[in-house]
Amino acid sequence: MKFDNIIIGGGLSGLTCGIKLAELGKKCAIVSSGQSAIHFFSGSLDLLGKVNGEEVSNPLESIKTLADNHPYQRVGIDNMTRLADEVPQFLDRAGLKFSGNANQNHFVLTPMGVMKPTWLTIEDFTRFETKDSFPWKKALIINFSGFLDFHTLFIKDGLKKLDVTTQIKNVSMKQFEAIRKNPSEMRSTNIAKVFDNGDALDEFAQKANDLSEGFDVVILPAVFGLLNKQIVSEIKAKILKPLVLLPAVPPSVPGIRSQILLRKRFQALGGTYFLGDNVEEGFFENNRLVAIATNNHGDIKLKADQFILASGSFYSKGIVATRDKVYEPIFGLDVNGETNGSEWKDEKFFNDQPYMHFGVKTDSQFHAMINGEPVENLFVAGSVLGGANALKEGSGAGISLLTSLHVAEQILK
Ligand SMILES: Cc1cc2nc3c(=O)[nH]c(=O)nc-3n(C[C@H](O)[C@H](O)[C@H](O)COP(=O)(O)OP(=O)(O)OC[C@H]3O[C@@H](n4cnc5c(N)ncnc54)[C@H](O)[C@@H]3O)c2cc1C
Repeated sequence: MKFDNIIIGGGLSGLTCGIKLAELGKKCAIVSSGQSAIHFFSGSLDLLGKVNGEEVSNPLESIKTLADNHPYQRVGIDNMTRLADEVPQFLDRAGLKFSGNANQNHFVLTPMGVMKPTWLTIEDFTRFETKDSFPWKKALIINFSGFLDFHTLFIKDGLKKLDVTTQIKNVSMKQFEAIRKNPSEMRSTNIAKVFDNGDALDEFAQKANDLSEGFDVVILPAVFGLLNKQIVSEIKAKILKPLVLLPAVPPSVPGIRSQILLRKRFQALGGTYFLGDNVEEGFFENNRLVAIATNNHGDIKLKADQFILASGSFYSKGIVATRDKVYEPIFGLDVNGETNGSEWKDEKFFNDQPYMHFGVKTDSQFHAMINGEPVENLFVAGSVLGGANALKEGSGAGISLLTSLHVAEQILK
């Protein structure tokens, strides 16, 4: 089977790259073995939240202070500015509405009740312009009886620090009885499926409105609109007080919806998505990758002019660590974690951990390298790249989106 481009990995990076290339007429395939980080998505896309532990106000300005080998520096500040500007419309074309500004972080309330700086927030959630700008004084936090994935006491404690008084109330409804019988079934996605059918929404809104008498704002877990995103606008319209949705423990309802919409966009553009297939091996000739073998395709090799590796970091096994080595498992690409194991971690847990910077090495055009030599037609994008601690910096989605758009542009040149 032959394509113009094959992308390995169907997370945010792989889908971004695939959609961009397909939008410009390329015949693309994505091969993806399983779940991605989007299934755990908080609802906000981070560009740069912190540098050296200090909160960042203007991400594009602060990017200039990052190390030379940081993926953002390799994309280049002019490209970063242009591509970051393009992202909201790019997502909008997939049916995903995000708002925010790459020159000015806004804040979102986390499930821990803490304000966190971020770049783009999905329309489900509430944006706050400053860290202490929660505009209500009396908040009602509503949970569903038996739902253990929404930690209301953390939210209460966090809001207390913002001088907000809160009360927590639980709601029971017969529509949830079937899933409540087994605690492992009482998950956000299953609650969302009940609401997606539409019939429980009016009754729940009525109960929430009765309970919210005397409160300024209602806080609920984000369990609305798994497949039917209209449900989010409907619940906002039916609750008579201002409504703040907060992420629950994953799986994330807005995350799964985002993954589905991005995949649909890719397929609508003519892309082929091989779900549940694992890339196992590559075949090289004269510094070029000519084909890959996958678990489901057996002897049928997948061929392409260019390949993009977007297989994620440790979490997705794009990078693997054993006791004595860190490696890239498909092609054996050069990685920047080839140091003595004793240097991988800092004893102080909350410090910037060296291993979090490990990832695949590339040249300045994001070509993968084997034994120090760039592979002409194998590009690398997203969290499999080395050079950044996305967790510490709050740069995860920014690295995935912007390196992927940049790599797509390199291929289209
Ligand atoms: C749990 C978690 C939650 C996060 N939440 C946020 C957030 O809310 N906001 C934010 O800004 N950032 C977040 N991040 C940071 C995150 O890294 C990026 O936002 C981004 O989603 C990563 O995308 P990716 O495509 O590079 O990697 P991934 O999402 O990890 O996707 C890699 C994909 O490659 C596939 N794959 C791996 N190996 C193979 C193979 N051999 N063959 C085929 N397929 C393969 C995997 O199955 C997976 O689907 C989170 C990270 C994690 C780990």
